[in-house]
Amino acid sequence: MIVRAESARDHADCYMSLRHMPPVYVSDIPCTIRSHMEIRFPKKCEEIFGSLRGCFERPNSTGDPQIFTANELLPPNFLEENPHLTISDDKFVHPYTGKRNRYLVGDRFHNVASPHTHNTCRYHDINNCSSLHSYATSLAEVDNAKTKDKRLSSACSQNPNHHAFYNMLMDYDNNMGIVCKQKKEIQKRYPDHLIVRDRFLRFVLSDKIC
Ligand SMILES: [Zn+2]
Repeated sequence: MIVRAESARDHADCYMSLRHMPPVYVSDIPCTIRSHMEIRFPKKCEEIFGSLRGCFERPNSTGDPQIFTANELLPPNFLEENPHLTISDDKFVHPYTGKRNRYLVGDRFHNVASPHTHNTCRYHDINNCSSLHSYATSLAEVDNAKTKDKRLSSACSQNPNHHAFYNMLMDYDNNMGIVCKQKKEIQKRYPDHLIVRDRFLRFVLSDKIC
């Protein structure tokens, strides 16, 4: 839960606490988050990102980034079949991609509005990977900004304890709202089936409702 504007530390804490770190993590400060993790968790950071440092290739202070393709990062609706999920003994292998690769990239809005100045920052650009062109990072930001407005308006009239509690409830309610909406959409398409969630918390169709 975040009660004020998030810092690199918040991103790092959130990222490191996940059971399956996302293959692609989008934020406005990818290089800062990477440097922050490198200082706080050097060993784990090396295990997760290796020499690519969260980029699609090794960042270079004088070179130009290349364009890469990584089909395993395509959203499921761009694939012919649902992806086969991998279960591995290696805890860093992501079940969806079947790979250890992790990318920290900048969102398009901030990349254009307030680009970072160091040459190595260009290697964290989401547009360096053609498979990520369909990711609508700006849309996610609009949603984010709406939630942030609600948080800030509540901060004026509440003490810190109430504000923290309010935010926790708001996050929970927001997440539940999304899950219920998704479930309703699926139920509409499969009215005769029971919709349940599997071990990866994905919705799956169960037996027919009698
Ligand atoms: Zn940067």
